[in-house]
Amino acid sequence: MTDRKRILIIGGVAAGSSCATRARRLDEDAEIIVFEKGPHVSFANCGLPYHVGDVIPDESDLLLVTPKRFRERHAIGVHVGHEVTAIDPAAQTVSVTNLSTGAERIEPYDALVLATGARAVRPPIPGLDLPGVFTLRTVPETRRVREWLALTRARRAVVVGAGFVGLEVAENLTKRGLQVTVLDLQNQVMPQLDPEMAAPVARRLRSRGIRLHLGDGLAEIARHDDGLTVTTAGGVSLPADLVVLGLGVRPRTALAAAAGLALGATGGVAVSPSQQTSDPHIWAVGDVSEERCRVTGSPRLLPLAGPANRQGRLAADAICGRPVTSRGVQGTAVCRLFDLTAASTGQGARELDALGIPHASAWLHPGHHVSYYPGARTIHLKLIYATDTGRVLGAQAVGEAGVERRVDVIAMAIQLGATVYDLEHAELCYSPQIGSAKDPVNMAGMIAANQLRGDLPTARWADLPDARVALVDVREPDEFAAGHLPGARNVPLSQLRDRTAELPTDRPLWLYCHSGKRSYDATRALTQRGFDARSLPGGMETWRQLQL
Ligand code: FAD
Repeated sequence: MTDRKRILIIGGVAAGSSCATRARRLDEDAEIIVFEKGPHVSFANCGLPYHVGDVIPDESDLLLVTPKRFRERHAIGVHVGHEVTAIDPAAQTVSVTNLSTGAERIEPYDALVLATGARAVRPPIPGLDLPGVFTLRTVPETRRVREWLALTRARRAVVVGAGFVGLEVAENLTKRGLQVTVLDLQNQVMPQLDPEMAAPVARRLRSRGIRLHLGDGLAEIARHDDGLTVTTAGGVSLPADLVVLGLGVRPRTALAAAAGLALGATGGVAVSPSQQTSDPHIWAVGDVSEERCRVTGSPRLLPLAGPANRQGRLAADAICGRPVTSRGVQGTAVCRLFDLTAASTGQGARELDALGIPHASAWLHPGHHVSYYPGARTIHLKLIYATDTGRVLGAQAVGEAGVERRVDVIAMAIQLGATVYDLEHAELCYSPQIGSAKDPVNMAGMIAANQLRGDLPTARWADLPDARVALVDVREPDEFAAGHLPGARNVPLSQLRDRTAELPTDRPLWLYCHSGKRSYDATRALTQRGFDARSLPGGMETWRQLQL
């Protein structure tokens, strides 16, 4: 035996590869070996839907680093087609099977890293193994989908699951000319978004010909002479030539569990802030591990590439003796579908409600840059914050341009524990082509801070149906005539100060406009005149989103 530290890594994609190369940079002497049961390491699983759509036509473009490159550049031994079948924590060894020869061997380790990722959820439903039914997690699976499309000249597809991977697949199949139906048990697409923020995404998908069959589950897939039939729990039959399952993933923990490693409440491998498992010589990173939510402190699974890469790097630091502490995860994610970007970070209102964390929201609908410069696109932005401290808890945004930049800024704010008052004062890039002197992030902070300081008394849309209030639309008459809330009277902001005598004083006044700006001004004017006035946040824009 030598003094060289022997680091074994199980799984060679996002988290495993990142861990291996970081460990090499920190320890030139260590022996670093990666076992990957699949045929590729470090491949771009995030690019797979675009290979289906032929946007990335060449499979080799998905293979980011080869075993040869790992060996030559980093002196890392990568063994593809090698499955680790057992871990013996007491002996500090793993059992490895060469999948092409069947040969088995025992490999010792000083440090072991579990980067085994996640497996696709496959509920016990008849028909999931039929030809023409696919999941999309690896390059070979993607190749099979492409071959099936070519072979069968498929025209109709059903995608089961309206999460971001399912929707990316749906978009790509649509662009290849297929008629696509997306089926999901939930009543909305993109479950990480609050329902009203997912509504513009659903609208865009429908406008591009995708059929959304929501609020209904998968019951069975059967084969007939002319293809497949997907039957829903609600008894609806959806014909298909191809079915892609995007039902989410679960951490691949069988090895860890068999080795006696502790699993967390979510089912992922439990880890310390340095990614160490319950065994001091074993670390777990990426989709297989359970992380701490930066916002709520609760355990959380977050199967995304960014966290997987960072956790791999962090574990390498810890193994190489550096004192490191994970900041946890907060769920920053983005997806672009048919030129519409939807992004989110932190916790949504629904999860916060479930956890009993008091929160409020600001909705706004600014342009992605100043309105006078041609081409401004609306960003629908929701900022969620703690009602006691003003701490930013989450943000969600949808639009055609400038969306991810705003969510990224807020993501960093969340990581640093910032409040809405910090967003008010954030100094951000501005020129007419790029943004606004008051950036949407500043505006979100200002609205929320106004709400918290009492400068903007705010009504809740959810309370509207039962509220005994006078509803006042402060837009101009032509806007009111084009459509307004039932029961509203029109007193435009431009005439409000001269027409206050018309406003009832026996009931609260709930004011709204197009996006919440004019109702804010009107609320300020009326409260200073002694009225009990409140603004409905985000105006008609938010109301329309809530109707979908
Ligand atoms: P994986 O990448 O799953 O790698 C784990 C590896 O371990 C696998 O290759 C597996 O074969 C191997 N393995 C498992 N068990 C063993 C064993 N016993 N022995 C040897 N090897 C083993 N994330 C984003 O952030 N943005 C996106 O746009 C995005 N798009 C995606 C699109 C698709 C189609 C998919 C499938 C995922 C996407 N993701 C995206 C998620 C992201 O790819 C994953 O979160 C990330 O790859 C997780 O990395 P990981 O290393 O933990 O696991």
